[in-house]
Amino acid sequence: MKSHSSDRRNFLKKAAASAAAVSATELAFIKAANAQSDMPHKELGTTGASIPILGLGTSQSLDPVYDKVMHGCFKNGVTAFDTALSYGSGASHEAIANFIEQMGDRKKLFITSKSGSSSVKGLTRGLDQALDELKTDFVDLYFMHGIDDVDMLEPEYIAMGDAMRKSGKTNFFGFSCHGGDVVEVMNKAAKVGGIDAILFRYNFRRYGDRELNLAIDNCKKAGIGLIAMKTMGSVPKELEAVADFRSKDFSLAQAKLKSVWADERIDSIVSEMDSVKVARENIFAAKSQQQLNAGEFQQLNRLAAMTAGYACNGCKQHCENAVADDTAIADQLRYLMYYECYGKPERARELFSELPAARREFRAEELAKATAVCPQGIDIAARLSDAHKALA
Ligand code: SF4
Repeated sequence: MKSHSSDRRNFLKKAAASAAAVSATELAFIKAANAQSDMPHKELGTTGASIPILGLGTSQSLDPVYDKVMHGCFKNGVTAFDTALSYGSGASHEAIANFIEQMGDRKKLFITSKSGSSSVKGLTRGLDQALDELKTDFVDLYFMHGIDDVDMLEPEYIAMGDAMRKSGKTNFFGFSCHGGDVVEVMNKAAKVGGIDAILFRYNFRRYGDRELNLAIDNCKKAGIGLIAMKTMGSVPKELEAVADFRSKDFSLAQAKLKSVWADERIDSIVSEMDSVKVARENIFAAKSQQQLNAGEFQQLNRLAAMTAGYACNGCKQHCENAVADDTAIADQLRYLMYYECYGKPERARELFSELPAARREFRAEELAKATAVCPQGIDIAARLSDAHKALA
């Protein structure tokens, strides 16, 4: 492994100058350091590792010189950072490496990284690349990124995870799962062993899903740590406004987080906090002892019911297997979500443009068959037309 020495003094000078330029409000947040002990922690599965119930997702663009969200989060007890080779178009690792240098003690962070390779060789290389870019000797948890297929839990992958742990390059090994047959993948993980933790899409829209609930139970029984992502279950804001969520204690975003933490099987949430305001709001929710009341849960259920037709769960085994064409339905709907809900039009267009033409194309009459099997009742032809209008 290459040496990780750098011109620390110049770097810190630059970082200090940048910190001095942030607003008084931002500094007030950053300086809230002594509240760190208030962040609740849970054991990640049966790994013995204690992690905060709120972690920072880093797929947004980070400031490589001085990122006030990372600093503010860390000082408020958000000591788990989730990253990936692909995040920030490949720049996330470098920004986190700089952050580690500024905070001065790598061991105070729980770092998760991922590689999207589907081969043992590529995943192994991905771990080395992550360590190199993060300028660290180990990550706490290494994920196979976005698996949607049980083949990635075949013995060679489990053996690879064992070898990675033994090498000391990662303490724990697991996978993330954005979609596909998450139930099948989680059930297999619970059976085969060798998986320490799973990062999966989970939010208030999925509570009635019996099969998913059983899969979560199976993973929990197997001692697998469970980290939730995509907890906002986002649809365009104007649609969410129709449900008119009201609470004297929480914003709608905070209520969505609280509803996931109310599920005791979930050890932590990874949340992409792309501003100081969002970070402050999420940290407040994590530290608050106040729980959601029945009325607030009912409002979330109502919101889920009213907007289901715009919220894709990523369960592409239903819709994509129903059509003769090779249309990437779930991916296009995900990119549309980045465009409509996450304020990331450029990223959405970039991802859309990377899809092979045959995977972008669709025939409305074929998609009628997909809509017929979609558990969310999404008008898939209409939504893919929206995606093409916005992203093509
Ligand atoms: S369109 Fe429907 S069936 Fe297809 S992935 Fe989304 S929710 Fe699942």
